[in-house]
Amino acid sequence: MNKKWSIGKIREFVEKNSDSVLLSTEYHGFSQKLLFKCACGNNFEKTFTKFKGNHQRKCDTCQPPKASR
Ligand SMILES: [Zn+2]
Repeated sequence: MNKKWSIGKIREFVEKNSDSVLLSTEYHGFSQKLLFKCACGNNFEKTFTKFKGNHQRKCDTCQPPKASR
């Protein structure tokens, strides 16, 4: 089952599920990087797949990428 995401729904998800704010105003698909503003004030780019699926919902300063070891 494919869930369709629009930029409006993504913004809603971001507001409800994180302390970050969505800055991007267009959404073209899962491979697109969206621009977010972290609660600390930093802007960061991430695909919505990572944001939602991998719980990467903050900037790299607040939530450094996991080292894979
Ligand atoms: Zn941050």
